[in-house]
Amino acid sequence: MPLLFKCVECGEYTLEERRCPRCGGAVRNPHPAKYSPLDKYGAYRRAAKKRARASDAVENRQSSLKGQRRPM
Ligand SMILES: [Zn+2]
Repeated sequence: MPLLFKCVECGEYTLEERRCPRCGGAVRNPHPAKYSPLDKYGAYRRAAKKRARASDAVENRQSSLKGQRRPM
């Protein structure tokens, strides 16, 4: 089955892979990413989210320590 593309400019659906035949605008794949209940990359996604949250917490703690006296 040939892939359907959608024009970014005018929203026309087309089978052309390069340019919209109506307005000559760029086309893109309108289909969402394939969904899998197995979520093959879920562990990586969750690890990245956890890492981002942890670095946020460190930054917040460092900024809240500013202006306080540090223990010797
Ligand atoms: Zn178009």
